[in-house]
Amino acid sequence: MSESVNIEMERANSLIEDSPSSAGALPNSDDTPPAASTPSTPNIDDRSTVINLTLKKQLDKKATAILFMIYHLAITIFICSWVSSALAFDSYGIVGVAGGAIHGKITEDATKRMGIIDCDKLQEAIRFPDWEQTSVHRLKLRPNNLYIPSNHFDRMAGKSHAQAFKEGAYFVRTEHEKCIRFAQYDKFDASLASLGRVLHAVQDFVSHSNVIDLPESKQQETLKAIWDDSLVLPIELMLTGYDATDSNPGKPLGDQFSHDDFSKDNPNKNAEAKLIVQGKSKYKIAYGFAVDQSEQILTRTKEQLGRDDWLNLVKEFD
Ligand SMILES: [Zn+2]
Repeated sequence: MSESVNIEMERANSLIEDSPSSAGALPNSDDTPPAASTPSTPNIDDRSTVINLTLKKQLDKKATAILFMIYHLAITIFICSWVSSALAFDSYGIVGVAGGAIHGKITEDATKRMGIIDCDKLQEAIRFPDWEQTSVHRLKLRPNNLYIPSNHFDRMAGKSHAQAFKEGAYFVRTEHEKCIRFAQYDKFDASLASLGRVLHAVQDFVSHSNVIDLPESKQQETLKAIWDDSLVLPIELMLTGYDATDSNPGKPLGDQFSHDDFSKDNPNKNAEAKLIVQGKSKYKIAYGFAVDQSEQILTRTKEQLGRDDWLNLVKEFD
């Protein structure tokens, strides 16, 4: 029996013992004894009734809590089944259940390294591009008419890997400039929204490419090329194919490096995500890489803004 049930039982007992007819007011032989069936006189049956009601209340609460958990688990499993066709490191899970919202967890890990503990609003801003750009269609999440491939470093049909990368990198640079400008004009909520889009795109880049497979020198060349359009991109870099117009967007017909087969959006996404390299799954490697890149973008933002604007922007994180 739980401690709370014991406490409730003790309370019920003390209420009965403190009542006028059971403590200090016992009838003496001169008083007319109350009738045994008088409702105002508690007896052992009343006591067990109170205890039973207390226990029932506790059990009802527990049953409600269990039903609540089952309900949320069912919703999570349902949502996760949609996510097979989503656009990114997952944005739809509930943290702590079935993988959670991975974009949010990456962000939380990156902000913690910078001493920022609470970042709920920043996490929302980072998940927002997926929520905004997908809709439920025939019980599946699909890109809607707001979907923009460069926001997720997706490679559309007919685009080369380098073209898709350049469009994603351009989006990151322009959105980061907006983030800085908005903050300098004291529009910190708009600055936060832009920062969320930048971080989302870069986290997606890690999942939607083979950057983690490249030698370190090529990784550095690639990361620098996000911020400098004049740099030459390693020819080995590939981005996953995703065609919003296809009946199966994540696996366009004939694509040798499709999103569904090669992205590392969650631990169970595909064989590639589960593949173990030097003791770690590729998903785990991509996750760590995305945390590193997120931290670097936050540091870049902090340096460009200066102390006061940065602190004001951080206030918007939670
Ligand atoms: Zn995305």
